[in-house]
Amino acid sequence: MNHGHGSDDRTGAAAMDCAGAMDRLFDFLDGELGPETEVRIRQHLEKCGHCFDEAGFERRFLAAVQAARAAEVCPATLRARVRDALRHAGWTEAAGS
Ligand SMILES: [Zn+2]
Repeated sequence: MNHGHGSDDRTGAAAMDCAGAMDRLFDFLDGELGPETEVRIRQHLEKCGHCFDEAGFERRFLAAVQAARAAEVCPATLRARVRDALRHAGWTEAAGS
């Protein structure tokens, strides 16, 4: 039995596992974490391909959301644009209005 105190030198007390990293990913990308936690997540992403991919996806998602927020597109305008795009794609308003 090994009751060692973190004998694995890859992981200090500051090491973060996948669950911990994913848990804080949105806050990380939003820059809402303290610098210490941010560093720990960044270090995890450098080592973990899975979480790195996940972070890339979330980052693109957040960038799109932030772009929409910055453009201050109101929901009605957005809906009109979507409808326009659908019409161009050959969709017709079957349900009527
Ligand atoms: Zn991971």
